[in-house]
Amino acid sequence: MDQIECVVVGAGVIGLSIARALALEGREVLIMEAEDTFGTHTSSRNSEVIHAGIYYPKDSLKATLCVQGKKLLYEYCELRDIPFKRVGKLIVATNESEIETVTQYISKAAENGVNDLTWLDQKEALELEPEIQCAGAVFSPSTGIIDSHAYMLSLLGDAENAGCIVAYHTSIESIDPDEHGFTLKTGGSHAHKLHTKLLINAAGLRACDVANAITDLDKALIPTPYFAKAHYYSLSGRNPFKHLIYPVAHEAFLGVHVTVDMGGNARFGPDLDWIPDIDYAFDNSRETLFYDAIRRYWPSANQKQLQPGYTGIRPKISGPGEPAADFMVQSEKDHHLRGLVNLFGIESPGLTASLAIAELVKELLVRDA
Ligand SMILES: Cc1cc2nc3c(=O)[nH]c(=O)nc-3n(C[C@H](O)[C@H](O)[C@H](O)COP(=O)(O)OP(=O)(O)OC[C@H]3O[C@@H](n4cnc5c(N)ncnc54)[C@H](O)[C@@H]3O)c2cc1C
Repeated sequence: MDQIECVVVGAGVIGLSIARALALEGREVLIMEAEDTFGTHTSSRNSEVIHAGIYYPKDSLKATLCVQGKKLLYEYCELRDIPFKRVGKLIVATNESEIETVTQYISKAAENGVNDLTWLDQKEALELEPEIQCAGAVFSPSTGIIDSHAYMLSLLGDAENAGCIVAYHTSIESIDPDEHGFTLKTGGSHAHKLHTKLLINAAGLRACDVANAITDLDKALIPTPYFAKAHYYSLSGRNPFKHLIYPVAHEAFLGVHVTVDMGGNARFGPDLDWIPDIDYAFDNSRETLFYDAIRRYWPSANQKQLQPGYTGIRPKISGPGEPAADFMVQSEKDHHLRGLVNLFGIESPGLTASLAIAELVKELLVRDA
């Protein structure tokens, strides 16, 4: 049976970041990816925002890894010439009653070490974004946008240059731990058996399924997966926005925000729709709900300019009505299987946090060795 030092399951942005970090350490790494190329699921179906780290609970993994990851990501983009822009973000109070909530983000962000948020009164906000309607806004200058495909391509290039191999069309079907590591049985067009010392489960929406395929893993440790679909509409015609515009998020539709992509095009989203399993179909009946949400901060919006864009699915581990769960990263300390790291619930800000998540996984493997 073939032997390898380390298998990373999943070639999304998280698996690629981890594989790169481990390969750069001199480890022998194989990425197993069920699809025919990298990044076809959540990593290519998101807002492509480099988040500042404002909203997440203090000391949570989301907060710490987002703030560390943002710094690492900006440095990496500069080093590798990956298209990105520090466009900045306005969190808008659409009326006087929202001002208190919006200003609280300044202290909330400071708890996470993000100290650059400023309050803009109505006049100052309109100077930045003349078409929005607001009573004032909080400005986050360190929020940015990134070409996520170019980023993943660069991660893959780094990993491959350091000797990492990617096996596409390779889906993990069963995992049997032993005292030296794990015997993996793969399906898909490359059915095969191999043994690895280290196993990183970065299978995104299917991470809980992969964990369930590990015999001897205490199944009580595996969270219940939930899927929350997001729709994005793109804006046809002239884009009046230069910054990202976020309203106060009370519920799914009120949180619909404006992002701009690297081409300068605007898109609106995401909304939130709980679904039973992975299904990327676009439900265009949501158009009017989007339009109503957008008009709260952009009164001159024209519904005819909204074009169905794309969908993505949040890999949730907390269900409807429950507080949002933190990222869950389990290693030997949690499950007592040496060499195994499971990553569950890596929803937003996973793209921003990706390089910091890779550092964390590296540290856990060294700690448990
Ligand atoms: C709507 C939405 C908007 C978002 N916006 C942002 C944002 O603006 N900024 C930000 O920082 N983050 C954002 N995120 C979060 C970010 O996109 C994710 O955290 C990140 O893409 C997760 O990457 P991943 O590698 O874990 O998952 P994925 O990209 O889904 O990759 C997992 C891979 O595992 C593979 N796989 C699954 N099962 C198996 C198996 N059995 N065997 C082999 N391979 C398998 C899949 O084919 C897939 O390629 C957003 C997420 C969503 C859903």
